[in-house]
Amino acid sequence: MDRIQMVDLKSQYLKLKDDIDNEIQKVLESTAFINGPQVKEFASALNNFQGSQCTITCGNGTDALQIAMMALDFKPGKEVIVPAFTYVATVEVIALLHLKPIFIDVDPDTFNLDMDQLEGKITKDTAGIVPVHLYGQCADMESIMKIAGSHNISVIEDSAQALGSVFAFADGNTFKAGTMGHIGTTSFFPSKNLGCYGDGGAIFTNDAELGEKIRMIANHGQKMKYYHDVVGVNSRLDTLQAAVLKAKLRYLDEYAIARNKVATYYDEKFKGIEGVLVPHRSKKSTHVFHQYTVKVENGQRDALSSYLLSKGIPTMIYYPLPLHLQKAYRGFGFKEGDFPIAERLCNEVISLPIHTEITAEMSKYIADSVIDFFD
Ligand SMILES: *Cc1c(COP(=O)(O)O)cnc(C)c1O
Repeated sequence: MDRIQMVDLKSQYLKLKDDIDNEIQKVLESTAFINGPQVKEFASALNNFQGSQCTITCGNGTDALQIAMMALDFKPGKEVIVPAFTYVATVEVIALLHLKPIFIDVDPDTFNLDMDQLEGKITKDTAGIVPVHLYGQCADMESIMKIAGSHNISVIEDSAQALGSVFAFADGNTFKAGTMGHIGTTSFFPSKNLGCYGDGGAIFTNDAELGEKIRMIANHGQKMKYYHDVVGVNSRLDTLQAAVLKAKLRYLDEYAIARNKVATYYDEKFKGIEGVLVPHRSKKSTHVFHQYTVKVENGQRDALSSYLLSKGIPTMIYYPLPLHLQKAYRGFGFKEGDFPIAERLCNEVISLPIHTEITAEMSKYIADSVIDFFD
């Protein structure tokens, strides 16, 4: 058996090698490293995949969030509601734009925004809500959009971990992650479900006017070269990355199926283990299993992690410390005990290897090792 990894980008590349090498070679020959035709081609293919009106590519998923907040004109001092349990990027751009993060606790089962707490956090200063579709499953977008709509607040969906996931509204209509909010963002960091070979990101909106503004902000605030209408940033998906993504996008649904197969297998194997809670499946959203994250009760999480490591199985903790307790964000005035679920999850969650290249032999070895630990 090959070495088990959290992600196996090498084996994944080898399967698509001819395709990808060919796409990269074309870019090298053309030397159109910035804004080459592949950037538009990929954006258009992704736009189709998403069923979105506008797709604007950019430099990375963090930039995507910042550009979204700039395009929605979130003014300094305004409040943005974000989950306390997520990756730092969301709160980072809030702080950079001199906005105020208003953390909210997450649902202990779905790891997404706790709907019971959302409306109570809205004030006259609230500019927006940023739901994060954590680990690959959509937050309750129907409720979020309803609440946001009734208060006239913008919603930016952070879909960095959930590209390809599908959410169903009560009326039966379905939408891809990133296309339900006023703006959606995603990341093509190599380990994401659709990863490039460097940094990359994209922004989605169904509002054509907003789309134009996003495009302008991502490009130095200009529509015409050297004429700058608004203050912007320089955030581009480079042509080589677009070429790689163009080749890989064709496999994104297949990748989600492969990840789900492993997840279903783990679910079955772990069903009977006391003290291990497998990921909750939302009835409204499909799951693309960016991570397969279980909760380990009774303070056993770190011991399980060490045990698995001793058997050659890597694991990761996403995330070990909630945002409101991070040193950089202490200044916003939150303290220990403010978000008990987020704090508890940081001690209980552990993500097991799940990726597109895991063999049946590997997943069996991983699952059996987890079972062995609890025996
Ligand atoms: C990866 C990630 C980002 C940031 O993406 P980068 O491309 O690394 O900037 C933002 N939010 C979430 C939830 C992520 O997982």
